[in-house]
Amino acid sequence: MLHLYSTMESKICSRIKSLQFSVIREMSQRAAGMDDCISLGIGEPDFDTPDQVITQAMQDVRNGYTHYAPAQGDLELLDFLSSQLSEETGLSIPASRIVVTPGGMGALSATLQTVLEPGDEVLIPEPYFPSYNAHVIMAGGKVIPVPTHFQTGFTLRPEDLAQRITDKSKVLLLNSPNNPTGNVLDSETLDQIARIARDRELIVLSDEVYDRMVFEGRFESIVTRPGMAEQTVVIKSCSKTFAMTGWRVGYAFGPDWLMPDVIKVVNYATTCVNSPGQRAALAALRMDQSPFIAMSESFQRRVGLLWKRLDQMSGIRCHRPAGSFYLFPEISGVDLDSTRFAQSLLEEERVLVIPGAAFGPSGEGCVRIAGTVDEEQLEKAMDRLQRFVHSRAK
Ligand code: PMP
Repeated sequence: MLHLYSTMESKICSRIKSLQFSVIREMSQRAAGMDDCISLGIGEPDFDTPDQVITQAMQDVRNGYTHYAPAQGDLELLDFLSSQLSEETGLSIPASRIVVTPGGMGALSATLQTVLEPGDEVLIPEPYFPSYNAHVIMAGGKVIPVPTHFQTGFTLRPEDLAQRITDKSKVLLLNSPNNPTGNVLDSETLDQIARIARDRELIVLSDEVYDRMVFEGRFESIVTRPGMAEQTVVIKSCSKTFAMTGWRVGYAFGPDWLMPDVIKVVNYATTCVNSPGQRAALAALRMDQSPFIAMSESFQRRVGLLWKRLDQMSGIRCHRPAGSFYLFPEISGVDLDSTRFAQSLLEEERVLVIPGAAFGPSGEGCVRIAGTVDEEQLEKAMDRLQRFVHSRAK
């Protein structure tokens, strides 16, 4: 029996076998079974979807939105997105260049599947959101990490990017505001990256799912740089913006030459995004935005609180994040690698953080902290962390 099991198992495709289970989910599950544990682990807003959105979506469901939606997306939603995205970017983005997807993740996987041939290279500034690696591999591509560093605030250095481009480079995956580092690409860096992407004809996948969580100045997208609308796919999501992670609605827009094929992939992979979720997304986009602005302000306050506490801890160094709800402190004053740090902190103090190594080798030496619980809990978690760091100081 055992023999049969192992020969049958060898039939599983090696690409999929090579993927690791998600460290974030694994650690979060362990923490969920512990009493009095404060989870700063999974990147999920603790706010609920506002009542107004739920009521509208339920009403729409009662009125017949229980059928397949058009493959590309609910027509009213596409229309709304077309106006909003055109206004936000100053570009003309007709509905024909937009697709609604199962979360931002659905847009990412569909675009990668649309463009990658086996062995094509995808450049990704590292540390990066671990699902990127899985999606590139599932689409047959190869990840080329472009390391970024604590010393430079984890900003992508254009020269580091340029150095890693080869004949096989096809996609550059950007994520600003960044998970896990909280880095936001500034105007000048965006100009320089755009220049490289244009010269080397890279398709840029710009993951902007945290675009409403920028704490200083306005969010800027690489798609607004000259010529970049022709070679950029922008990914957005309702998950974090509207506290709608479980509804699974995201969307993407890109150039005319590419989007019909992306839509084809979304259609075959999913038929369509669930109709109630799309109606909920439309309700969230249309309503008075003040509850969502308040949510983003609350994340900003929490990140400020966490940063202040971390900044005062000896043995810890931390940049103040410019966006997202993550902090990525360096733990060099403690005699543990990031994995053992996170495991011991969880076991001894019941605080969940994610080891930096989960985001690639350049994340080693740091841990990710998500500001996704209220301020009282955050203070308590920081008291525990401080005690832990003190007890383990080098
Ligand atoms: N991109 C980044 C950087 C993320 O952190 C996440 C979720 N954690 C996603 C994409 C995907 O989010 P969703 O599919 O829920 O829109």
